Amino acid sequence: MHKDKVLEGGCLCGAIRYRVYGEPFAAEYCHCRMCQKVAGAPVSSWMDFKVEQVQWFKGSVFEYSSSEHVRRGFCRDCGATLSFRDSRHPDYFTLAIPSLDEPEQVQPTYHIYTESEISWHRIADDLKRFPQSRQS
Ligand SMILES: [Zn+2]
Ligand SMILES: [Zn+2]
Repeated sequence: MHKDKVLEGGCLCGAIRYRVYGEPFAAEYCHCRMCQKVAGAPVSSWMDFKVEQVQWFKGSVFEYSSSEHVRRGFCRDCGATLSFRDSRHPDYFTLAIPSLDEPEQVQPTYHIYTESEISWHRIADDLKRFPQSRQS
């Protein structure tokens, strides 16, 4: 892990700001229906960190339980999607790549839940595609 790299981001209205230290250990596109619904977009892009890499320095997310194990964090003021946590992986903390101030800094390297990919939206890349989670 490169401790020297610092990424900054936040929500649309600026009420919530965060810093992450070091590189994400993974970054992916998610085509699942819940990500589609919560983002109002055909696909979401996420970056995965260890909890201790993430620091909120202004405000904090409001979390919604979208399923038994998953908490999706958003800004109560502007509604921006910011985070994702799974209680089965308590040491992981996932953030939305587009919430970065410079979203070009992190690039997804694979696709998950392509079984619910919307047919009119096609990402023409050569990245690995998983019908469900990465394990499937
Ligand atoms: Zn906001
Ligand atoms: Zn998803």
